[in-house]
Amino acid sequence: SGARVRRAKGKRPPKYLDIDADVRFEDVAGLGEIRRELEEIVDFFKYKEKYLRRGSKIPSGILLCGEPGTGKTLLAKAVAGEAGVNFFSISASQFVEIYVGVGASRVRALYQEAKENAPAVVFIDELDAVGRQRGLIGGSGGQERDATLNQLLTCLDGFEGRGDVITVAATNRVDILDSALVRPGRFDRKIFIPKPSIRGRIEILKVHARNKPMADDVDYDAIGNATDGMVGAQLANLLDVAALNVLRDGRTEITTDDLLDAASLEEGGHVDLRPRSRELWHKMALNEAALAVAAVNFPDFKDVELVSLIPRSGEDKGSVRSRIDSMKFETSTMSRQGMMDYITIQLAPRAADELLFGRDQMCTVWTDHYNNARKVARYYVFCGLSERSEVYGMFHCWSELARYYEVDKEARRILEACYNRAQKIIANNQVFLKELTDQLIDMKAIKKDEFQILAEKYAHIERYPPSV
Ligand code: ADP
Repeated sequence: SGARVRRAKGKRPPKYLDIDADVRFEDVAGLGEIRRELEEIVDFFKYKEKYLRRGSKIPSGILLCGEPGTGKTLLAKAVAGEAGVNFFSISASQFVEIYVGVGASRVRALYQEAKENAPAVVFIDELDAVGRQRGLIGGSGGQERDATLNQLLTCLDGFEGRGDVITVAATNRVDILDSALVRPGRFDRKIFIPKPSIRGRIEILKVHARNKPMADDVDYDAIGNATDGMVGAQLANLLDVAALNVLRDGRTEITTDDLLDAASLEEGGHVDLRPRSRELWHKMALNEAALAVAAVNFPDFKDVELVSLIPRSGEDKGSVRSRIDSMKFETSTMSRQGMMDYITIQLAPRAADELLFGRDQMCTVWTDHYNNARKVARYYVFCGLSERSEVYGMFHCWSELARYYEVDKEARRILEACYNRAQKIIANNQVFLKELTDQLIDMKAIKKDEFQILAEKYAHIERYPPSV
């Protein structure tokens, strides 16, 4: 299946046709609801007559919004692949030319080809390159872009509602798109493609593992945990890097460790480990170490995968990250006790800073964690999980402000109790904390096995009482 070009003899082949685009929905993982929306588009192609007879309007344009590498191109290809129609693609940055009229004529040529080979999906990547709100930048470049944009609008209007050619465009900047583009009959459907959740990451990894020599016992949960913040393209890359390493070492199977190694490389790849002062390294290391030291006390969090001073990709402020931090607060599945423990862990860096440097010398490395704790504490109260739940039955008769005040007051009580608990843990684990901090400063990252060894040697675990 795939491309179905009917080509007259002697005519030159279409320039924008993507002939190896036989992608199917099963190749796109972790998108749940979104996939269903796109299945509807496939349906329009397949049962066009039915929709037209009913007088339904078939969308002419669909806008996929999301960060690079989240699978927008892949999805567009899958729509064409599933519907069995041709796929034409271009990146809008190729439209943008210095010479007035060149961009516009490319747009015309693209749609001409699509029309001759309809039904078809036209995919326009980086739509914002041409669809930026008019008048945002001046000069002759602006004039050229206006001409290209106008041509694009004309082409979109030409196919409106007929289901022969559907345009799918991708952008990471819906906010700057010209409003003419998102009017009814043009890109009137917006679909947001988020970064994958842990479940999504695991699914994506499995899709890309399909044709690779995976060991039987690969721990996808652990890898899913270790890849927080990564998008599909990065996850696909992990598999490739791991496969290369296996080849290079003359081994036959890709293991969990190969993938975890690739994951920490991927993180490091984007990062400048700028020279920092000894004090700053120390503060950063202490911050991460405190999280890890606290985490080993609690069943939901004790499996520490990686403690690292290497910031994750996409984070420019050079902050420090560890695996504990990536155990995202999963509101739907975490128990009441789990939330308390999470809050306690997130407060541990502050407790450590206070213990070692004293109140006056505390700094702000732990602010993010503190905010996490506060957010979860408020959520906890808001959901009625707090002991003082009778108060919350009265929510309905309070003003917004009064309610906020009450929630905040109770959340503060919980934060305080958890902070006491964090302080105890830190005070009882000073040796562990110091060893971990020193090793982190030297090594910049400590993996699961090494961490386990340290924990067995130094961790002092008591049954800390529930905090409230
Ligand atoms: P975008 O267009 O959003 O920048 P792409 O569709 O080009 O992203 O993704 C690049 C590659 O990353 C794909 O070809 C695929 O190998 C992988 N990928 C991205 N998202 C997914 C996903 N949801 N499922 C499977 N693979 C994915």
